[in-house]
Amino acid sequence: MTYVRKRKPRILRFMLLFIILALIIGMTTFGITTLFNRYPKAMMEVNESIKTAGNHKKRRSTTDTAYYVLHYPDTKFKNLNSWIASEMDTTMNTYPLETEATEERHQIKQDYKSIEVNDQYISVQLETYENDVLVNKVSRVYDVEAQDFLKTDFLKDKAQRVINKQIRDQLGPNYNLSEITLDPLYNNLYLDNSNVEFIFFNEVVSFNYKDHPHYLNRALGDVEPTDDFIPSVYLDYGFENNKMVALTFDDGPHAVYSKQIMDVMEKYNGQATFFVLGSRIRDHQENIREMVDRGHQVASHSYDHPNFTKLSIEQINDQLSKTEKEYEIATGMHDDLFVRPPYGLILDEQIKQLSVPFINWDVDTEDWISHNPTTICETALRNTADGSIVLLHEIYQESYESLDCILKGLSEKGFQFVTVRELLLAKGEDITGGGLYYYAN
Ligand code: ZN
Repeated sequence: MTYVRKRKPRILRFMLLFIILALIIGMTTFGITTLFNRYPKAMMEVNESIKTAGNHKKRRSTTDTAYYVLHYPDTKFKNLNSWIASEMDTTMNTYPLETEATEERHQIKQDYKSIEVNDQYISVQLETYENDVLVNKVSRVYDVEAQDFLKTDFLKDKAQRVINKQIRDQLGPNYNLSEITLDPLYNNLYLDNSNVEFIFFNEVVSFNYKDHPHYLNRALGDVEPTDDFIPSVYLDYGFENNKMVALTFDDGPHAVYSKQIMDVMEKYNGQATFFVLGSRIRDHQENIREMVDRGHQVASHSYDHPNFTKLSIEQINDQLSKTEKEYEIATGMHDDLFVRPPYGLILDEQIKQLSVPFINWDVDTEDWISHNPTTICETALRNTADGSIVLLHEIYQESYESLDCILKGLSEKGFQFVTVRELLLAKGEDITGGGLYYYAN
């Protein structure tokens, strides 16, 4: 009896302790569950996309208008982490887009992808959803060695142009190319074990860098760059919604201005047409190659600038074939060059006997008369219409100096700058039988 009596209170004491512990655990669990339940369950879940770099963490908060659950990778790298943190701050300051008081809080959720490539790069992509609708997507590639983000310079200039064309083909002619490619921080770049991806919200333009080592300026992971030729591309804008103009430059190539003109054209995503003299090609072969490489059109302005109306057909043919020969020596390519007759002069019967497109102009900037950049620009802006062919000269400094003004002014009016070939083709001209063109309709 005494034995039993001694044990009973001990059991009671244990039971009491157990009940108290159970209550504490139960209440705590209940508390956590309640807290969790404040966030809709779907916000706590992430999709099955790659999350191999960094530890998966969540930033949660609630305001009067929204719940925020931002999933993100916590990495070993300070710069990368602080970019992620600043993106999340931006997200919380930007969303919800609708700030009027509603009965239900908006759900702002961030999901992500992260991958480590070749122990050297970490790609992170953050996706923001407002009430399950994707509202923002940013991605960057962190270079562990450089302790900085990967920028455009890992691609050769020509490769960038090839990709630019791909972007426009895929996203349409109105995409603002310069905004994409000139973004110094490349908030739309993602790298995995074989592809470089350029992310444009729901669209992705990509290339396989293992198959295209010649696109690279320097090693990307374990892929070393090669020197294989990258064919040039015309910008090929798509031609549907914009006004078009072809700027043409006569009497070159020129030691200095050829390159300067191309640089300014590039600033405006433009392509020019250079009517060069065959006799000048030999001393400026590099310029001709660069024109071709950068996607401009090289055309013929005769061999040494004679007045065609005073020549026989044989003599004109000789002028044209000698120029094409020089072009071929410079570039290694044979091409039937478009022709601008010197002084714009050619007879109807000569045109009929020669099956090449002869190209004159409808806008004469009179740069050869005024030699004044302001006047040249004003003349061009005043007279250019959709389909115009504009006459400029490659050999005058004032013409080059007027170019930025012309391109800026015409850009603001909605013009795109194409080659004569592109202009005629885009406007549906049949150029196979030759003819003389002043503009395109
Ligand atoms: Zn000329």
